[in-house]
Amino acid sequence: MALPRPRSVFQRIPAYRAGKPAHSDAYKLSSNENPFPPLPSVLERASDELARMNRYPDAGMTALYRSLSERLDVDEDQLAGGTGSVGVLFTLLAAFCEAGDEVVYPWRSFEAYPIAVDLAGATGVPVPLRDDATHDLDAMADAITEATRVVLVCTPNNPTGPVVTRDELAAFLTRVPSDVLVVVDEAYVEFVRRPDAARGLDVLPGRNNVVVLRTFSKAYGLAGLRIGYLVGPPAIATVVRTATPPFAVTDIAIAAAVASLNAVDELEQRVEAVVSERESMVDALRSGGWDVPDTQTNFVWLPLGSDALDFAAQCAPVSVRAFDGDGVRVTVGEPAINAEFLDAAARWRAAR
Ligand code: PMP
Repeated sequence: MALPRPRSVFQRIPAYRAGKPAHSDAYKLSSNENPFPPLPSVLERASDELARMNRYPDAGMTALYRSLSERLDVDEDQLAGGTGSVGVLFTLLAAFCEAGDEVVYPWRSFEAYPIAVDLAGATGVPVPLRDDATHDLDAMADAITEATRVVLVCTPNNPTGPVVTRDELAAFLTRVPSDVLVVVDEAYVEFVRRPDAARGLDVLPGRNNVVVLRTFSKAYGLAGLRIGYLVGPPAIATVVRTATPPFAVTDIAIAAAVASLNAVDELEQRVEAVVSERESMVDALRSGGWDVPDTQTNFVWLPLGSDALDFAAQCAPVSVRAFDGDGVRVTVGEPAINAEFLDAAARWRAAR
């Protein structure tokens, strides 16, 4: 008997592997989440909206766009919101790619990239990172062909941590044809402290083929509410708004996002605490003999190669994120849990 059949691409798309849910593991350093609980002012606004759950949300995301437009000094029509920046990315690729189109992206990078590319019906062109875990933008520019529709740039890069510099991005953009869309994924931008880091918003003016992806999941601590956005040319934002399922983003998420933008000073103090904890972790690891690439995020990368899975198992009960054959990513969490992880890392080296 014949059965309903999904597109053939589903025979090879791997499921997205998420870290363990927080409720099942008290020592979770595997999903780059913010360790702080919601701010009372944010929780209050979200709760107010929760009481209106019998109503559909504002499909126009008016309050979000107004607030972001003031904060980022961009026009409202340059914005498109979605269910996390990953939701925006899936919509964007589905809207801009046809079968046979190519999407160039760095690898290793965010593991949703190949999934989103496959789902869009496009062909992924992964370009290996350099030995220092940074983007090889020259090789990425070389990989652009007549078939390339989109290039993904992840700065800072998940899971390795380094940024693309301002000069590197500027030089790269001169090599990208005007009909190729460049997506600058800045999920971790609030944790960046390097003064020479590229800023997606700085390169937008005057360019019609660049968009920036941002999220409330990391620095703003709203991962569970699923809200992110794109900033770019109005023509592209309009396409993404059209392609996004109606009512995708809830008013609860929008209220929490707007309340977070209003509480940005408090949230920045928290980011500062994470950054300072990150620096301590990197110092401790390096003085213990670990080779840790520069990180401008809320996680550190240990390039363990074939030892990745064994090392991660040894970190239990702290859960870290292993990428088989490549390395382990460890989120900067509460200091006590970070210390437990550092003990495990020291034990690992002592045994070698
Ligand atoms: N981009 C990068 C580089 C990420 O690491 C993540 C989250 N892991 C995202 C986008 C998506 O985040 P969200 O959908 O929660 O906004």
